Amino acid sequence: MSAAAVRSPVDEAPAAGYTQPTVKYLTDRHADRPADDPIFALNREATQRRAAGESIVNATVGALLEDNGTLAVLPSVVQALHGVLPARGAAYAPIAGAPDFLAAVVDDMVGGTSLASRATAVATPGGSGALRHAVSTFLDRGQTLVTSSFYWGPYTTIADEHERTVTTFPMFDAKGGFDVAALSRTLDDVAARQGRVLLFLNDPCHNPTGYSLDDAEWTAIASVLRTVAHRVPLVVLCDVAYRAYARNPTGFLRHVDALADDALILFAWSASKSFAQYGLRVGALVACTGDSSQRSAVQRALSFASRGTWSNCNAAGMAAITQCLTDPSTRAQVGRERSRLTTLLDARVQAFNRAAAGTSLRYPRYDGGFFVTVFVPEAARAAEDLKSRGVFVVPQPGAVRVALCSVAEADIPRLVHELDTAVRAAT
Ligand code: PLP
Repeated sequence: MSAAAVRSPVDEAPAAGYTQPTVKYLTDRHADRPADDPIFALNREATQRRAAGESIVNATVGALLEDNGTLAVLPSVVQALHGVLPARGAAYAPIAGAPDFLAAVVDDMVGGTSLASRATAVATPGGSGALRHAVSTFLDRGQTLVTSSFYWGPYTTIADEHERTVTTFPMFDAKGGFDVAALSRTLDDVAARQGRVLLFLNDPCHNPTGYSLDDAEWTAIASVLRTVAHRVPLVVLCDVAYRAYARNPTGFLRHVDALADDALILFAWSASKSFAQYGLRVGALVACTGDSSQRSAVQRALSFASRGTWSNCNAAGMAAITQCLTDPSTRAQVGRERSRLTTLLDARVQAFNRAAAGTSLRYPRYDGGFFVTVFVPEAARAAEDLKSRGVFVVPQPGAVRVALCSVAEADIPRLVHELDTAVRAAT
């Protein structure tokens, strides 16, 4: 090579006055993504301050903790995990999920109803995966899903990630009940705009409000949904992540059962809360329709979506949860251990309701579940104020979310007192 052909760094230097264009590795849509989920960031701060010796009430964590602050687990589930045969745990699971797991989930979700014979299912990484599949499969790009004005924040993240949006209706009416009329108006509007509807209903034990719909509300909702389903294709997703902690975990089923001839009914089933295995990432999307050819088309579309995203799910996790659902003695043991956890949580719910009686706190009917939402104007300021006094809650528009699942019963009087002070200061 001749000396003249060798380019030195000086040759490469830009001419004076030239500005190097900023390299854009990320596409515009992804360039300004927030770095962290705000709830995880709050939890980190609470944990750091507690580790530094401060007395902290951390009501941000969406996992059930024992009163001593450790994660509550079900020993029989852990044992089932340890017992998974290496050859099953190490092998790829079928793309749609292990057939015995799917049959067990369908039975757990809709067994004993006429939905059982009209169901198909695919495995997903937790309920989040089920929500993701619903958004990508039952909406086109640019379309919107409908949910209540209070909702689990990742609904928006999942929708945005897939270039869909979220449209909300006011969740509560003037009397504090579920606003069925607002639901109806919003569904009509979305149906007219996009010719199809995907509705997310998180019930029972709604996150973040703790609200569980009663029978009369479900009756009214079912009637609205039937009307919509006669006009446009309607997909109703029941996000049942917290069902195991509800007073009445199955009461709503008869209402959706009656709808399955008119609409596609989905269940985002999750082992995260019901088996206290958040990190296992075991879940499923169960889809029910009376139309068998639609059902096979849905099954094919969901399997395709699995192949196009996570490929297949946690084989060991599915095997262990299958054992928990189907082996009579493991199932009975899980039931006993779980009922200790529901009792632990119920005691906190009652302690909260007792302490809040006669205070300034306003919150929806709360009779079970991981969270409750306390209404407060200027919620971000109220949450900051609470933080300065060692109480961590999650601000949302017009309210703060209080995760009683992570607060020891003994701390609830302090929590309620500080909330009361913050609400009074903000109003
Ligand atoms: N739906 C709601 C309302 C939730 O709060 C959560 C988790 O916090 C999920 C679904 C999904 O949880 P996972 O993906 O762990 O099953």
